[in-house]
Amino acid sequence: MTRRRISILGATGSIGQNTIDLIKRDVDAYEVVALTGAGNIAQLAADARALRADVAVTADESRLDDLRAALIGSGIEAAAGQVALSEAAARPADWVMSAIVGAAGLAPGIAVLQQGATLALANKESLVCAGSLILETARKHDARLLPVDSEHSAVFQALVGEEMAAVERIVITASGGAFRDWPLADLPNATLAQASNHPNWNMGQRITIDSASMFNKALEVIETREFFGVEPEMIEVLVHPESMIHALVGFHDGALMAHVGPPDMRHAIGYALHWPERRALPVERLDLAAIGSLSFRAPDIARWPALRLARDVMARGGLAGAVFNAAKETALDGFIAGALCFTAMAEIVEEVLTQIDATGGHIDAPMTLDNVAAADHLSRKTARDIIEKRAG
Ligand code: NDP
Ligand code: MG
Repeated sequence: MTRRRISILGATGSIGQNTIDLIKRDVDAYEVVALTGAGNIAQLAADARALRADVAVTADESRLDDLRAALIGSGIEAAAGQVALSEAAARPADWVMSAIVGAAGLAPGIAVLQQGATLALANKESLVCAGSLILETARKHDARLLPVDSEHSAVFQALVGEEMAAVERIVITASGGAFRDWPLADLPNATLAQASNHPNWNMGQRITIDSASMFNKALEVIETREFFGVEPEMIEVLVHPESMIHALVGFHDGALMAHVGPPDMRHAIGYALHWPERRALPVERLDLAAIGSLSFRAPDIARWPALRLARDVMARGGLAGAVFNAAKETALDGFIAGALCFTAMAEIVEEVLTQIDATGGHIDAPMTLDNVAAADHLSRKTARDIIEKRAG
């Protein structure tokens, strides 16, 4: 049997490690081409050795010597930097996991599509920044895109055998994150530790904080629009504290197809890994009788302004997604560094969107990788200036 050639971008992160967990259970079925990471050199080197990867790449150029040292005697190539990341992504493979965090995942993801490989997309930021560019590249190179975000995997599964014309709405659920039940007046005082603690999911720190602010769901609404090509009015967010139903697809005949599964990313990763087959996965078997009841509520826009901003971004179109994501990433950096309070993140993002829209030009530029990078750069600079002004 020929082995499937796979690469994992962002191998050292939460999604990357869950992917590796699945690969290790059936290691002879795969030939690992490239693994990438950034700061966690020890993990990157250990996994590259265990999976006999051809190449290991760190995004951090200053760590190349450390990576080389950790790989001595293994015969595995070591490389570093953004260009090396995209080169690794371009190495012939059948299936590539895109699990770098943030806009940094965009260029390597495009390189994967350009070689015609299947891209399992966890990196939602790339779709938010450059949805049409990604879809166009996939089409041009006959490459397949599979969702990994749990809600989008759920929608994808609910749509099997259905026509998009029959779809009336797509409902993605949100746990509500760490501060779902906090009094609104306490939100400005939320600490980094409190925001980094998700009630249901075990994920990387950045997406966990984004879940508390609902910026994660805001990105996912835009991701839904791009991935499934539906109008913004067809997308709903539903707060569902138990995180058992990940999404529902509503059809014109009144049916709602819900996807129910344990809050374990290995389900969505495994579905994308084995697609179009469904195979046994090492996830909990849900006992609904023991769970007893599931609850739902409408999202509170006053608590989560990020959801309102996502609507503005979709209405604006063009490069507004790239501006939105970069402002969000910069505001999140500010919160993590202690320079911003929790609620200031949404204020900064809104201010950046308003300022950049007012100056015109950038948002309406054609969607090329260079223009996305320019919009991203301008947004980060604008956000940093606003943060500095506030501090001064
Ligand atoms: P983590 O923070 O756990 O991991 C991020 C990965 O990206 C690590 O391998 C990290 O390397 C690497 N990385 C960090 N910065 C850079 C950079 N500038 N350039 C290249 N690589 C970099 O994130 P998650 O695994 O939680 O999330 C990954 C992606 O998946 C995100 O887009 C997230 O939104 C999405 N996602 C995650 C879910 C989850 O359950 N975690 C669920 C749904 C979507 P290192 O650790 O070595 O520094
Ligand atoms: Mg999700």
